[in-house]
Amino acid sequence: DDRVISPETTDAGEAGIEKSLRPQRLRQYIGQDKVKSELQVYITAAQKREESLDHVLLYGPPGLGKTTLAMVIANELQVNIRTTSGPAIERPGDLVAILNELQPGDVLFIDEIHRLPKIVEEMLYSAMEDFFIDIVIGQGPTAHPVHFPLPPFTLIGATTRAGLLSAPLRDRFGIVAHMAYYNEQDLTDIVERSAAIFDTTIVTEGAHEIARRSRGTPRVANRLLKRIRDFAQVAEQSAIDLPIVEKALHLLQVDARGLDYVDQKLLRAMIEFYDGGPVGLSTIAANVGEETDTIEEMYEPYLLQIGFLKRTPRGRVVTPQAYAHLGIPFNKK
Ligand code: ADP
Repeated sequence: DDRVISPETTDAGEAGIEKSLRPQRLRQYIGQDKVKSELQVYITAAQKREESLDHVLLYGPPGLGKTTLAMVIANELQVNIRTTSGPAIERPGDLVAILNELQPGDVLFIDEIHRLPKIVEEMLYSAMEDFFIDIVIGQGPTAHPVHFPLPPFTLIGATTRAGLLSAPLRDRFGIVAHMAYYNEQDLTDIVERSAAIFDTTIVTEGAHEIARRSRGTPRVANRLLKRIRDFAQVAEQSAIDLPIVEKALHLLQVDARGLDYVDQKLLRAMIEFYDGGPVGLSTIAANVGEETDTIEEMYEPYLLQIGFLKRTPRGRVVTPQAYAHLGIPFNKK
């Protein structure tokens, strides 16, 4: 996915930059106030009781800071964090190896936890609930069960949608936190903070303009900042001002609401061929040449969030606001 507004990490270079931009402590973590204040209470309580923090499930769209928050939680608890992902834990033995290395109180972060293989997920139940796993060693007549006690630990799971998790797994998280899209003020603060880390000067109107076009997503805001900084450098401009932001975003084909050509194509196809809907997800996907899942996970959430699309029982509908944004007259009953 090479879209400049993709909420996913695009390459290893970007992953390295992200690392440098990650806040370390809860007070440096911008936005998500409700999640932060709840976590602060649970963290303080766990520390007072000298117990491990309850397991935490973070759910919400990609790029909103779930991995970052997991690292912040470990820092606040002053414990180690081990990070992995659902698809990376292929066999029960992989999970045993990971759990075996944990020290008391440590955090285990599992990204895309909804993609754990079923057999691994089932082993996790007793590990989460009572800190043990039962495994069978050997095969045939020599096979015997081994009871394997674990140190108390905190599992932090991340997923794009809580509904993707099985009920037994979801029920074992004591703390469930929904990560919401960021507002413009928080994103402006994030852009200004990142600019300072990059040692780049940016005027507030410039940071605000980037914030407005970042789809409520810090990862997108940071990526746009980095691209615009390159434009400013080439233009030999020492500070990033509003005109250079507008010029760069125009060249990057990111419009005033943060939509790119794929979003535009999607909305225009729905309007042109289906009179604005209702249209089924698979039809939309076929029209823009993407997978249904990709539409549902990456494009649609933001368009729903800003009120350009609406879900109805018969399919998706383009709203009058989207017509207005695209400059197409809306004359449906
Ligand atoms: P996710 O795990 O939800 O996909 P990440 O935690 O990888 O998202 O965050 C993506 C990038 O956005 C990180 O590099 C981080 O620097 C930045 N970021 C996310 N949330 C915040 C925040 N609240 N404050 C500052 N930067 C943030």
